[in-house]
Amino acid sequence: MFDPQLIRKDFPILSREVNGKPLVYLDSAATSQKPRQVLDAEREYYEHQNANVHRGAHTLGDESTHLLDVAREKVQLFIVAPRKEEIIFVRNTTEAINLVAYSWGSGYLAKDDVVVTTVMEHHSNMVPWQSAAERRGAKVEVVGLTESGQIDMKDYRKKLELKPKLVAFAHVSNTLGTVNPVAEMTKLAHKAGALVLVDGAQAVPHMPVNVAALGCDFYVFSGHKMLGPMGVGVLWGRKELLEAMPPFLTGGGMIDEVYPDHATWAALPDKFEAGTPNVAGAVGFTSAIDYLEKLSMKDVWEHDRELVAYALQRLSTVPEVKILGIRDSEMRSGSVAFVYSGVHAHDVATILDSEGIAVRSGHHCTMPLHSSMGVAASVRASFSVYTTKDDIDALITALEKVKKVFNT
Ligand code: PLP
Repeated sequence: MFDPQLIRKDFPILSREVNGKPLVYLDSAATSQKPRQVLDAEREYYEHQNANVHRGAHTLGDESTHLLDVAREKVQLFIVAPRKEEIIFVRNTTEAINLVAYSWGSGYLAKDDVVVTTVMEHHSNMVPWQSAAERRGAKVEVVGLTESGQIDMKDYRKKLELKPKLVAFAHVSNTLGTVNPVAEMTKLAHKAGALVLVDGAQAVPHMPVNVAALGCDFYVFSGHKMLGPMGVGVLWGRKELLEAMPPFLTGGGMIDEVYPDHATWAALPDKFEAGTPNVAGAVGFTSAIDYLEKLSMKDVWEHDRELVAYALQRLSTVPEVKILGIRDSEMRSGSVAFVYSGVHAHDVATILDSEGIAVRSGHHCTMPLHSSMGVAASVRASFSVYTTKDDIDALITALEKVKKVFNT
């Protein structure tokens, strides 16, 4: 049975105090905490296998290479990708998007071409496309949102009439929590002749994801938001696209043959993994996926449903709080962001921190989204498998201190 109280026992950090109060960690969308199993897996790797991959004609090198391969297969099966070599390990979501924007962009984006994104995107799914467009003389078109914070499908269809080369959007918004209709949007984009990149950074930690069923062409996410270590992320891309794209970073590990004046590239996935990979991170990532699978992603998703509904309900009882995004908990995941009337988000977060409560304040790397809502900054409470309704109750209680301090 899914029991967050039992799960919490696996996370050593959750037993610490902050400012003399038990830590209430509501910042999992920024990075999740890590269970002991993940921490142990990384340490054990360094204690027993540590060696560089591919190169060593020795046992440790072979074991290390095997562990990286195991991690790749684990990720492949977790997101139901058709082929193992389509899983490219990178540092994080940001690097994965930059890889595609640079690599695919330099091969296939031409002058006056269009790339479509949406106004709800994290800067990591906006700025790399702006840079690619600038380099190639192309244009970025940004789809707007409805009043309730969902993608404006009318505007989306209109932007698709521009015949974009690629459409890039989030599976789940890191600020509004909106779950976007990925399969439908992908179908429409494909009909218009565009490739589709989905930013899954806020989806994979919370729900079962099946990239084959979604139908997209690229899917990207970060290990550190799903109980894994920092420094390991994933680009999944369809094999024929990755094969046709020029490399992103060049150097050791990604070549087939090197001559003084030119080189040829290794096959996938190595072509996109230049230099020494983060094997310890990949081993920790394997352990994180094992952990999530043992919980069952179906139950992880159910837990998320409950927390989001509860947070929306409790926050809506605080008169000073204005919740951002759609009120229907069934259409959102992972977090609830809000504005506290008359008090800056940073001040709210500081007071909450004094009560041991960690939330994020600011624009959460979604400046265009905040501007479009006429909001400078917001407070975001975000959840993971170890989050409980007690954590949300603690947030609500601490908001009373904000009221007292600021006399709202
Ligand atoms: N995309 C979304 C939706 C995110 O929420 C984040 C991080 O918060 C990112 C991209 C960037 O992730 P990373 O910092 O791991 O590259």
